Amino acid sequence: MTKTLAVNAGSSSLKWQMYEMPEEKVIAKGLIERIGLNDSISTVTFGEIKDRIVLDIHDHKEAVNILLSDLKRLNIVSEISDITGIGHRIVAGGEDFKESTLVTPKVLDKIEKLSPYAPLHNPAEAVVMRVFEQVLPTATAVAVFDTAFHSTMPAKAYRYPMPNKYYENYAVRKYGAHGTSHMFVSREAAKLLGKPIEETKIITAHIGNGGSITAVEGGKSVDTSMGFTPLGGIMMGTRSGELDPSILPFIIDRDPELKDAQDAIDMLNKQSGLLGISGISSDMRDIIDTKDTDINAKLAFDMYVDRVKKYIGQYLAIMNGADALVFTAGVGENSVPFRESVLDGLDWLGIKVDPSKNFFGAEGDISLPDSRVKIFVIPTDEELMITRDVERLK
Ligand code: ADP
Repeated sequence: MTKTLAVNAGSSSLKWQMYEMPEEKVIAKGLIERIGLNDSISTVTFGEIKDRIVLDIHDHKEAVNILLSDLKRLNIVSEISDITGIGHRIVAGGEDFKESTLVTPKVLDKIEKLSPYAPLHNPAEAVVMRVFEQVLPTATAVAVFDTAFHSTMPAKAYRYPMPNKYYENYAVRKYGAHGTSHMFVSREAAKLLGKPIEETKIITAHIGNGGSITAVEGGKSVDTSMGFTPLGGIMMGTRSGELDPSILPFIIDRDPELKDAQDAIDMLNKQSGLLGISGISSDMRDIIDTKDTDINAKLAFDMYVDRVKKYIGQYLAIMNGADALVFTAGVGENSVPFRESVLDGLDWLGIKVDPSKNFFGAEGDISLPDSRVKIFVIPTDEELMITRDVERLK
């Protein structure tokens, strides 16, 4: 029995989950939020214990040290060296990383070099990896890339119709994201279909605060909605998703609040999507609660649903149909009205939901027996995928 830690470092957060392996049992999990701000919060759930401390955590290095001291303070491990494996979720793997890999100094350098492709994430992830390397030099450290699953996309899907030099000189192309989640739920869906994954066509809709939709053919990603960065594709909680690029210079010229292109991109990442249209919230729950009384919340909901439907249509078209459509992540797993609205009017395409199965907490098949495309709700588990990769590479 060994202990493996799955670590997911965001721009201002650090999520972690401790597993007992090979049982794949979660023994503790935690989240450190507001790194770099005042009153950072570290929460840990360990059996009956729900621990919460508030203190100033200035950077990711400090966050790792808080995590390690929490592990000992709460007796989750007796010695830090009990942890024999660490899996790191990395946002951008570029064209270098097509699968999970052991962390070596060379790999770390490459991850840092890929920072321009995920400026908020890769640098923080590299810091976290280096700290763990120092405190746990003998543990197996594995980097698991959000983009890796999408490395199977054909050029016709990942290239943008721009002059070649932008791809050749600067690797401007679609990379996608949420790859670990799309891989996990598509494999689970193949199990539910009772078919070898090589013989399946599956559309996976990962709809959380961020959202992406992937066409998975024969177990491989053949197209995905997110693009060069996670700003592409569908509308999200605070992201616009795709729009006509001519809008950028047009609004930068006119809005005094936008100094430059970076300001505009920040606005599209952080103030757009559900939040921008509703003016109320980026949280789908708030939108659903207010959409019957607030016209902007209603529009935000309708726009979101519209974009998800369109991607489902696109991916049915490029794969010549699908065996299953999967809903996962915060909204996809939990929101009955969201699923209902997305699925409404897709019966002509062979997608028929069973309303009596589409309830809060539903898991598995929610389609009618005669639905040509099965509709599944599958809770995603990126941490488990990361941990399995650590075991595999040990
Ligand atoms: P992230 O992209 O941050 O990983 P998650 O997959 O955890 O996001 O999803 C978080 C989002 O899920 C929240 O912002 C919220 O909008 C949504 N969500 C969670 N529960 C529900 C629910 N019952 N109904 C609608 N939306 C929900």
